[in-house]
Amino acid sequence: MSINIAIDGPSGAGKSTLARRLAVKLGFIYVDTGALYRAIALYMLRRKADTEQQIVDCLPELDVTLRYMNGEQHVFVNDEDVSGLIRTPEVTMAASRVSAIPAVREYLFVLQQNLARENSVVMDGRDIGTVVLPDADVKIFLTASPEKRAMRRFLEMQEKQIVGQTYEEVLADVIRRDEQDMNREIAPLKQAADAVLVDTSELNLDESEALLLKVCKENLQK
Ligand code: C5P
Repeated sequence: MSINIAIDGPSGAGKSTLARRLAVKLGFIYVDTGALYRAIALYMLRRKADTEQQIVDCLPELDVTLRYMNGEQHVFVNDEDVSGLIRTPEVTMAASRVSAIPAVREYLFVLQQNLARENSVVMDGRDIGTVVLPDADVKIFLTASPEKRAMRRFLEMQEKQIVGQTYEEVLADVIRRDEQDMNREIAPLKQAADAVLVDTSELNLDESEALLLKVCKENLQK
């Protein structure tokens, strides 16, 4: 029987890094659901499908699959590996738009549920504990203060030598994105009633990982 761990939270809380590490430790598959929305967004950009109707009409042409190579998740669209093409700012913006379309969420809902039924997974996203896997064995809501998340993003940008935004601007973006994610009509970001809240504001990555592992072990023993 498969074991399912759901991790939700705002962007910049460390979800993907920590979910990936946790999956390695537990020997589970890591499912980055944001990559699925990004893959659909890339396809729609290429097809120049802009309006909701155009996007919905294109969905039947799509075959989105996840495959694992050396333990790394790769996302395929109609047999093309698009993993390296979905991290651009253009795709990020488009992913945010397509993720608000109910038909897109329904399409990915089935895919995500099938993955979790067939494999033990650590799945991260915005609505995993609330909508996609309401019966997950462990639910974690991972967060950190907007200031800490903004500072992490700002330092990461400096490290990658991406210039152009001050810390104050990054913080304003973080706050705006939180607002959008939490207040959208469909599948808003919110903590499931039975999720464990983990705040990483004062923790480094190793400390956060140790805490998440502890939460998982405690909850899996129940
Ligand atoms: O997490 P990531 O930044 O890759 O997500 C890309 C987009 O997909 C975001 O705009 C996010 O709101 C959306 N998303 C979502 N539900 C998920 C995962 C991501 O709406 N489960």
